[in-house]
Amino acid sequence: MKLDLGPELEDFREKIRTWVDENRPPGLEELDERAVYLGTAHLSGPAAEAYELWSTRLGQARLICPQWPEAVGGRGLSGVQTAVLNEEFHRARVPRVNRGMGESLVGPSIIVHGTDAQRAHFLPRIISGEDRYCQGFSEPDHGSDLAGVQTRGVVDGDEIVISGQKVWTSGAHLANMIFILCRTDPDVPKHRGLSYVLAPMKDNGIEIAPLRQPTGASGFSQEYIDGCRAPLFNVIGGVNNGWRVAMTTLGNERGGGATTQHLRYERELWDLVDEARKRGRAADPLVRQDLAWAYTHVALMRYQGIRLLATLAARREPGPEASVSKLFWSEYHSRFGELALRVLGPDGMPSCPAGRGPSSRAPARSSATSSASGPWACPRSPAPSLPERRSKLLQSGRIAPGRFGTRDSRPPLTDNGLQRRRR
Ligand SMILES: Cc1cc2nc3c(=O)[nH]c(=O)nc-3n(C[C@H](O)[C@H](O)[C@H](O)COP(=O)(O)OP(=O)(O)OC[C@H]3O[C@@H](n4cnc5c(N)ncnc54)[C@H](O)[C@@H]3O)c2cc1C
Repeated sequence: MKLDLGPELEDFREKIRTWVDENRPPGLEELDERAVYLGTAHLSGPAAEAYELWSTRLGQARLICPQWPEAVGGRGLSGVQTAVLNEEFHRARVPRVNRGMGESLVGPSIIVHGTDAQRAHFLPRIISGEDRYCQGFSEPDHGSDLAGVQTRGVVDGDEIVISGQKVWTSGAHLANMIFILCRTDPDVPKHRGLSYVLAPMKDNGIEIAPLRQPTGASGFSQEYIDGCRAPLFNVIGGVNNGWRVAMTTLGNERGGGATTQHLRYERELWDLVDEARKRGRAADPLVRQDLAWAYTHVALMRYQGIRLLATLAARREPGPEASVSKLFWSEYHSRFGELALRVLGPDGMPSCPAGRGPSSRAPARSSATSSASGPWACPRSPAPSLPERRSKLLQSGRIAPGRFGTRDSRPPLTDNGLQRRRR
């Protein structure tokens, strides 16, 4: 099915296609996506040079963070233009040069809630790649119950001083900045006492403890934060106004890429089909049946994306589609991981070395995807507070009274067997 987006957008598509053809340096096809994700330091040889040149050209054409308004260094592309751009880059097999959470989560929140001075300071550093962000929201006792975070932020002169613990932080080891949701007023209803702070990671009271996955990789970490300092200038939206900013961040996390997300699943699926053929598994009727199941689901994601695209093209606000698509892809990807494991066998559990195709990593990551972006990124119902959850568990008899001690009497947290004490 081809969606007719109208002459204006087809013209835009043609211009992007021509631009890519004229500007892509040779060698880009050899790029290893994993190494690109890990940062340019992981690239070497001609691929590194090609990527460098490609980034420079994209930057000059304002095609890095292109969906940001022109006034802050983007190209002001609409949602549907961005989707067309993604499709064209995918078709040409060239990377998008993505600034990760800086581009998709922090930047849009600064654009909406930051001051002019904050926009002028933080946004160019994201576009240039100087600042790479990770997300400090989840805590050991506050995941879905995000508004209940306990990490404290205390204003000290013209600085804010942060102490507490965060967990599940994706890519913390690759970031030099973290956006932290912390409690700056414990005496008001929980949503009203939070602040959203951009804090430097280096030599700043943040100890990163990688969480080792069964694959051996450590894609996320927990952080022990003790006296981390940031200027008050780095508080976005004002002190105690962090919830609104966090909601903007999560709105972007929910909807991000929903129009073209099927593209990466499509590539991953065909990688797996190739692997099944190579390994002589493609003739197995059960494998074939499961691959057909995956194919139809990727097709459904594509149609869902097209529907969302049509909504955007008609300048209508998207409805619950983004949340539905998050549920759809996360449940799909869990099952796809099981299928990939059946096809690849023990090879499906590598420690994510650079150089392996995406399908070989699918089993390792897929079981986590239903939780990635957070249950808070796709709420099915309002999250109960921790005491509410505990009292429900006690009432249901699933947990014996006394199971929950006070914070101090509970055993120290463990990280993969290593006993750690809270500071
Ligand atoms: C791969 C991955 C990457 C992540 N990256 C980051 C990151 O970079 N930064 C970050 O801050 N966080 C990150 N997270 C954390 C994540 O987004 C969630 O916030 C966190 O996993 C949820 O908290 P929890 O694990 O304590 O689960 P809980 O909040 O304890 O929830 C446990 C289960 O209960 C369900 N549940 C909870 N409340 C309700 C309710 N009201 N109704 C129905 N069901 C409910 C949940 O859906 C879930 O299945 C990541 C998670 C994963 C898996």
